Amino acid sequence: MLIRSLYLAALLIGGLAGSAPAQLDPQWKIHDQSRPKPPTVTPGHPGFQERAGQAPSDATVLFDGRDLSQWVNLEGEPAGWVVKAGAMECVKGAGYIRTERSFGDCQMHLEWAAPTPARGDGQARGNSGLFLMGQYEVQILDTFQNPTYADGYPGSVYAQHPPLANAVRPPGEWQNLDVIFRRPRFNAAGEVVEPARLTVMVNGVLVQDGVRAVGPTGWLRRSSYLPHADKLPLALQDHGNPVRFRNIWVRELAPDQGPAEYSLAPRILERCVGTYQLEENWNIQVTRTNSQLFARLGALSRDDVFPLATAGPLEYRMRTVDGRFLFQTNRSGQVEGVIFNIAGEEKKARRQP
Ligand code: MG
Repeated sequence: MLIRSLYLAALLIGGLAGSAPAQLDPQWKIHDQSRPKPPTVTPGHPGFQERAGQAPSDATVLFDGRDLSQWVNLEGEPAGWVVKAGAMECVKGAGYIRTERSFGDCQMHLEWAAPTPARGDGQARGNSGLFLMGQYEVQILDTFQNPTYADGYPGSVYAQHPPLANAVRPPGEWQNLDVIFRRPRFNAAGEVVEPARLTVMVNGVLVQDGVRAVGPTGWLRRSSYLPHADKLPLALQDHGNPVRFRNIWVRELAPDQGPAEYSLAPRILERCVGTYQLEENWNIQVTRTNSQLFARLGALSRDDVFPLATAGPLEYRMRTVDGRFLFQTNRSGQVEGVIFNIAGEEKKARRQP
């Protein structure tokens, strides 16, 4: 594992421009009290307190101030939260509530207000949470003059990524939470090939910039991914505090165009060059010309050579066809096979010696 990490580090230094794979800063423990706390930012545009915002025209409205018809408890029974004065309020002991409908990739908006007067300290004050797909929590908390551990501030990907700022308003004031969520992708073997990605704004202040979740969130723990459906309900947390919500909406997003394309040093590309044997008795030949990899599929004519776009040191996409190559390495970091995904079908090929 250490060898692999060192190898990856060498690769990254060696020329990967762009984002790093899903990993967390190893110097901080979960809920580390010594981790620097996010700086306080006073959010702007305060002109929306009296009146809830309005959903964009193409959004699915999950709460418009009137009723909980879009929500149930985790058992699928009517939600036990209450609606008062255009807001829904968490009722202690009523449990989490979730949407009846399911969502995957989405843009999500809600407004929340922490209870007033503020009661409790740290995580006990104005705690709730937005659970994307029911398992990836963006924390909601009252941290106005109320410090807590960094990875538990509002807008944190709970216990994983602290927010870039503590951008809350005082308790009782309405606040905006906006999330752009990309669900994790799994291959046929149930392994995660793209972790969940989150961009989050609290009161218009960017607090998460496309961070990758390392798995479902939890208290005192970081869990590994388990394969799940492409769409699952959104949930709101009952943490025992009467947090209020209004103007909740979601816009479903089409799959994105994939991660940015990178330029990698030729010696990194060279690792993947070779012939890979598929079960069906045809092979894939990967070749390189300067900083460009090409794939030739043995089932097609020799003229069909596909240029590959670089999505990462071991991940490449066909430029002209919806196909993807995910190269597999052994313990010493050498490429020994490839998972080839084309038109939704996945094939595994072993590298020929
Ligand atoms: Mg919470």
